[in-house]
Amino acid sequence: MSHIMEHWLEKRAHLSPHDTAIETVTGEVWTFRQLRDAACDLAKRVASIGPKETSHIGILSNNSVDMILHFFACTYLQCPAVFFNTRLSIAELKQQCDIADVEMLLTADQYHTIGKELADEKNLPHYTFREVKQCQPLSISVATDIDLDVVCSMMFTSGTTGIPKAVMHTFNNHWSSAISSALHLGLYSSDKWLACLPLFHIGGLSIVIKSVIYGMPIYLLETFDEKQVHDAIMYQQVTMISVVAVTCQRLLHVLGDQRYPDTFRCMLLGGGPAPKSLLEQAREKEVPIVQTYGMTETCSQIATLSASDALRKLGSAGKALFPASLQIWQDEKQQSTGQIGEIVVRGPMVTKGYYQRPDANQSVFQNGWLYTGDVGYVDDEGFLYVVDRRSDLIISGGENIYPAEVEDVLLQLSAINEAGVVGIKNQTWGEVPIAFVVLSETIDQETILSHCKKNLASFKVPKQIHFVDDLPRNATNKLQRHRLKEWGTKHQA
Ligand code: ATP
Ligand code: MG
Repeated sequence: MSHIMEHWLEKRAHLSPHDTAIETVTGEVWTFRQLRDAACDLAKRVASIGPKETSHIGILSNNSVDMILHFFACTYLQCPAVFFNTRLSIAELKQQCDIADVEMLLTADQYHTIGKELADEKNLPHYTFREVKQCQPLSISVATDIDLDVVCSMMFTSGTTGIPKAVMHTFNNHWSSAISSALHLGLYSSDKWLACLPLFHIGGLSIVIKSVIYGMPIYLLETFDEKQVHDAIMYQQVTMISVVAVTCQRLLHVLGDQRYPDTFRCMLLGGGPAPKSLLEQAREKEVPIVQTYGMTETCSQIATLSASDALRKLGSAGKALFPASLQIWQDEKQQSTGQIGEIVVRGPMVTKGYYQRPDANQSVFQNGWLYTGDVGYVDDEGFLYVVDRRSDLIISGGENIYPAEVEDVLLQLSAINEAGVVGIKNQTWGEVPIAFVVLSETIDQETILSHCKKNLASFKVPKQIHFVDDLPRNATNKLQRHRLKEWGTKHQA
């Protein structure tokens, strides 16, 4: 039996039509009714281009109100929206169009040329957002209900470990994610969530979906800009924001000796390891960090630390959200308290699978559980500690080295702003760790190495330290260790 619900934007426009849905940095304000009316109108215009029901519609755009409207237009047509990362090359976009069976392409006006080239090559209809507005609307009635079991959107994993896979998100995945998050973080009528993560990744899109389900305004930024984000928290009554470690670091830097207003209640930190030194710095500045663990496959958060445990359990990603469960497995055995193994999760926010990747689905899903590829442990009170990705593990002379632990130690030095550690091949040890660091002030190799020697077993001490201007990061500012590994190999050559 299918599970039908009134379309969320219909329902929201009915319940609180005049409440603010979106505010932008230029002072544009959209109410829920305006959002609904514009999205329905666009759906009728997109319909004139001729998608079939369930056609996959590709969206290539940076964060904007137009992007949100076109996403909702797709939902009104019951067509899954496929989000593309705007940083990709044409070759990568072509590959992703194929992977996700995209049948029509909608792009922001600035991607007109890329869209044209893609569309010509793939023989797809392509319209920019401006062109969609110029289409004559069809007089059709759009869907006012949604089927929770249907795929709402598809997006690609960040590609941190290789070629991104297209993750299918049903309406139920999004619904469960939004509700579980609210059960955990609470929901206040004063809440306003700042969206500066790309909407083509789940960390961004989930904020838009929460906005409609909760009736909560979002403050939308095109990209992460630390000054704009800082000002929004200080002066625009933002109460929540989602960040990754490096953007959090930049915000703390801008904050300096100031304090955020008391009304700012949650800086949701996820997407990658959170260095201890960063968490300690945040604690000193009284920044309400809420650590979370999740991935594209879990439609955003699946475990989160409660604010009340934040200081007591520094470094933990908390417990699984209400409808979710997590376990630790190693060599086909469930691990007990304190033992390290692969994090395995289950819950209604977890994807049905990767689109047309039976191989990946078979290896990742077993008995209803998702094998995350991340390594961690659970302490005696049931709190999850994420150690690192299994694929990033460096094995040196038979000993395991988790790069995040070494990066943590490097980041204890205030002269080091960013650190990335990877393994390179070594004849004697199999692999050895090397480090790339971005400095904020001068420091020499010897000082860094003697700090590492004091704090790490000798096999974990980086065998080379490279000073670089930037580390390779993706659109969410997450460290791409596979690219760093290529750098390491180059340095070795
Ligand atoms: P790909 O799967 O293509 O390699 P990706 O895994 O980086 O890319 P995402 O789905 O954006 O793509 O990221 C999820 C991953 O981020 C998790 O699997 C985990 O490795 C990491 N991560 C998320 N939250 C945390 C956390 N709290 N601590 C450590 N790592 C985290
Ligand atoms: Mg992944």
